[in-house]
Amino acid sequence: RGDFNSKIDYVFKIVLIGDSAVGKSQLLARYARNEFSLDSKATIGVEFQTRTLEIDRKTVKAQIWDTAGQERYRAVTSAYYRGAMGAMLVYDITNRQSFDHMARWLDELRGHADKNIVIMLIGNKSDLGTLRAVPVDDAKEFAQRENLFFMETSALEATNVEPAFLNIMSEIYRVIS
Ligand code: GDP
Ligand code: MG
Repeated sequence: RGDFNSKIDYVFKIVLIGDSAVGKSQLLARYARNEFSLDSKATIGVEFQTRTLEIDRKTVKAQIWDTAGQERYRAVTSAYYRGAMGAMLVYDITNRQSFDHMARWLDELRGHADKNIVIMLIGNKSDLGTLRAVPVDDAKEFAQRENLFFMETSALEATNVEPAFLNIMSEIYRVIS
């Protein structure tokens, strides 16, 4: 086995939040297993997946948590947020409401999470540009105002998924080191 003498220097907990059906589970499937499914199976049970990477010659394990179909307002429990060092606030670029709900997800997050948490706004389904309902500028403006990192992604086409996770992991590393 190649990982014979590998050691983990850090574990970073990252939580995914946002409305139902924006693509949180598929982003995670794409990042952790390079898989994607068009079937939207509701996530059952709290679960996380991991992926290990190198940052600054350290071995860092991302432990990425996905909501258990708890996307209703205030249904996500404080245990979900506990110890989170990063959060991805995900909306669907074809669903205006999912973007308009980002403010209250952010409130929820800031009410529960550590004050140094690194937060990234993610506009997913960028492959569906013809159905776009959220202009990039609206998202950039919101992100700037709230001091969030921002990226558009497509879990389907695997666009920007790696960079988004790498970005949030690198920022967490900067915060703790
Ligand atoms: P969740 O409820 O936020 O976890 O959303 P899911 O990951 O279950 O995705 C909801 C639906 O959107 C599923 O049918 C996915 O196949 C679809 N989906 C997720 N990501 C993308 C994407 O990047 N592009 C497109 N076109 N569909 C996506
Ligand atoms: Mg899900």
